[in-house]
Amino acid sequence: MAMIPSKDVEAILAQTDIVDVVSRYVPLQKKGREYVGLCPFHPDHDPSMRVSPEKQIFKCFVCGTGGNTFTFLQKIEKISFPEAVMLQARELGYPLSVSEASFEKPKLKEQPLYDAMDAFLTYCSMTLFSPDGQAALDYLHERKFSDDLIRDFQIGFAPASFRSQAFFRTKEGKISQEDLEKTGLVKEGRVFFHDRIVIPIRDGRGHPIGITARCLPADQKDQPKYLNTSATELYNKGSVLFNYDRAAKAARKSGRVIIVEGAMDVLGLEKAGISEGVAALGTALTDEQMELLRRLQVPITVLYDADRAGQDAVWKFGQKALEAHVPFSVARPVSGKDPDEVFITSGKEGVENLLGRTQSFVDFTFDYLKKDYNLDNYSDRQEYSSRLSALIFQSLPAIEQTAALEKLRSITGMDYSMQIQEWRSQEKRERNQSKRGPMIVEGPQSGRLQAEKGVLWAMLISYANVEKFKSRVGFFKDPDCQSLSLYIYDAYRKSDHIDFQMLLNALPDDNLRSLLIDITELPLYVKDCDDLLEDMIRRIERSSVEISVNKINAKMSDALSDEEKLDLLMKKRDLIAKKHQLGEEIAPASKQPVSEPAVDWNGTPDETISAPNQD
Ligand code: ZN
Repeated sequence: MAMIPSKDVEAILAQTDIVDVVSRYVPLQKKGREYVGLCPFHPDHDPSMRVSPEKQIFKCFVCGTGGNTFTFLQKIEKISFPEAVMLQARELGYPLSVSEASFEKPKLKEQPLYDAMDAFLTYCSMTLFSPDGQAALDYLHERKFSDDLIRDFQIGFAPASFRSQAFFRTKEGKISQEDLEKTGLVKEGRVFFHDRIVIPIRDGRGHPIGITARCLPADQKDQPKYLNTSATELYNKGSVLFNYDRAAKAARKSGRVIIVEGAMDVLGLEKAGISEGVAALGTALTDEQMELLRRLQVPITVLYDADRAGQDAVWKFGQKALEAHVPFSVARPVSGKDPDEVFITSGKEGVENLLGRTQSFVDFTFDYLKKDYNLDNYSDRQEYSSRLSALIFQSLPAIEQTAALEKLRSITGMDYSMQIQEWRSQEKRERNQSKRGPMIVEGPQSGRLQAEKGVLWAMLISYANVEKFKSRVGFFKDPDCQSLSLYIYDAYRKSDHIDFQMLLNALPDDNLRSLLIDITELPLYVKDCDDLLEDMIRRIERSSVEISVNKINAKMSDALSDEEKLDLLMKKRDLIAKKHQLGEEIAPASKQPVSEPAVDWNGTPDETISAPNQD
């Protein structure tokens, strides 16, 4: 594999702002000198990822993921380091002196299956525009599908199975029978999709992983209207949303995402020029799918059918969304019409109107729960009120609660405002308790580890500090600090100063990247770096002495001869003397407040100042 010259890597980094890169995937908010956003690498409810434009790094304080622009791209796109560099070069229009073709793409294990899906879908879209597909194409045109839309979504027609069989034979040698079975295109030797309109289902990165297929109206009597790929190596219906790859981009622009029931509903929205629709394809929404929606960080509009099944699905969706703290509203569908039909009868305007008429989940529930209760009956009324008041408390902001409670009172004659006040103060009490919790759990970091980090920090600033440490101590007790030190030594072999970004690029794993970032965040300042290093080294030496003393204590308790005991006692006395010499007197240097972080990674580090912040 060709290498990208480090001058190109440096130049690309110099022209890149990590804030722009991360914002392509995650909305960021400015907070002081940094930006914060929801971490895309773990299920995150409170923004725990920080992005620093000064240091050009990101870091999640919950899962620990951190690094620079390339680390972020590698992780979110699941690509290699050179691919991340190339991706960013393309984004900038930076001319790489290495051609992309000279890089072998790391072969995805699923690639043969994607290729098989692609081949079949291409064949089906050609069939759609051939005499074999005429009836299907007429039907699509009748439903106001434009040819552009058909091509954009790669909608096709799967012909009679003997034709597909013949097509697969022409691909023998390129696509194995085994892979066809693995994709679900062939099942027990027989072509699975035939005589149907096929619509590809793609994963978040646009790979074709499954198919949803509709039969033509003429065939509708004797077979199911829709047929979907069943679970395969590629396709697990609970973990994808139809059209998510396209909708994710559109949602960031439009500031909303719309969830509908089926692929045809998504396409109905597309006809009206609305690209931010997704569908769970006939299953109740799973936690994974909710997580995909939550990551978009835009409000959700739920647009399900007006029938009983559709309304039950809204109810279930609401329970899950409340649990996941995802904001959403409910569109009021036109009875008997799905979005596609609304488009066919009333066009784009009709669809926009439909999406404009939304209500809160509480208002939806006022009507939805009525079917379960006879509100003329006292105990029914009581239960209805109690369920609604709980929902009002749980899902509405405080300023909307009063009006909702008033509505509840006018329907049932029951006043729940006192109850809600009680819940509110209970919640407050619990919140205060949990605030005290984590601090105790965390505990102080061990003194030695802190000191080792301090030494690494000093090493980043100057090679003289490396030499000083090597001559006095030479090794780190913490394995991560030890490996990071080796990368620092290596960097000094190539250059007389450390380029922080290039060092980050060189680190092989998350632990080391996270450690390096932690170190640069230490509240240490470059002035009196020598004092700091001296202090840290002494702490480490003292800790080594303490370890030796403890070893001697352990040996002494294993009753030995008097002679041996005496020998140990002498050693212990020497060690204790040494410890005193290393001294308590490590006086904190002047403690004047310092505002600038010492390590200015973009400039010259040597004029900055000060002493270790004593904790
Ligand atoms: Zn995280």
